[in-house]
Amino acid sequence: MASSEPAQIAHHLAEQRVRLAEAARASGRDPASVRLIAVSKRQDVSKITAAYDAGQRDFGENYVQELVKKAVELAHLDGIRWHMIGHLQSNKAKYVAPLVHAVHTVSSLKLVSELASRVAQRRAQQGCADARLSVLVEVNVSAEASKSGCSEAEVPELLDAIDAEPSLVLSGLMTVPPQNEDPNAARPFFERLAALRDRSGGPVRLPELSMGMSNDAETAVACGATWVRIGTAIFGERTP
Ligand SMILES: *Cc1c(COP(=O)(O)O)cnc(C)c1O
Repeated sequence: MASSEPAQIAHHLAEQRVRLAEAARASGRDPASVRLIAVSKRQDVSKITAAYDAGQRDFGENYVQELVKKAVELAHLDGIRWHMIGHLQSNKAKYVAPLVHAVHTVSSLKLVSELASRVAQRRAQQGCADARLSVLVEVNVSAEASKSGCSEAEVPELLDAIDAEPSLVLSGLMTVPPQNEDPNAARPFFERLAALRDRSGGPVRLPELSMGMSNDAETAVACGATWVRIGTAIFGERTP
């Protein structure tokens, strides 16, 4: 094991890329169809820079303030792409919309219209006429009261609302299954999300399935994940 922190992170990243590629091949999928989001919440910016230097471009953050601070501090990293993967209140959309490549956690009509109007505003003010924001609908497929995300019944209406916004790109569906030590425990929830995608226009309308974390990445890839969100397996334990 390499001893310096940047070398360790590069090593862990390489391991995770191999892991996802092997999982893809094991399911007869093209490894290029599975991409890694390095989840950097509650990790120091030095670790993000190390991952970037090792070729990683997509990073996931959960908390608005932390995301904004890091995105501003690391704005010099050319081509870095931020993914909002934590709960987003519609009154915070204005902070996030100009900074991120994608919001994975859209679960209300209010957030759809708030994100759309923020992107449209930016188009008008800054003259970036083709600025668009990718959004995914977060679905609570386990129907757990404690989890965020919309119900399966709310999905069609949300998808139609996103389709109707020229400043938003409908990218896909996302889910966070109940926490479980057993990497296979999430399988029924991942399968539900994939089935929901198939009923809602399939991969043509919804190309991305954002699912899987450090513990259950293989299961997610076997069920069709295209974005896998991995944190601790790359960066180590988070600060409290
Ligand atoms: C924290 C988090 C992850 C990463 O979890 P790890 O177990 O550290 O890989 C992925 N997705 C979401 C939504 C998260 O909040």
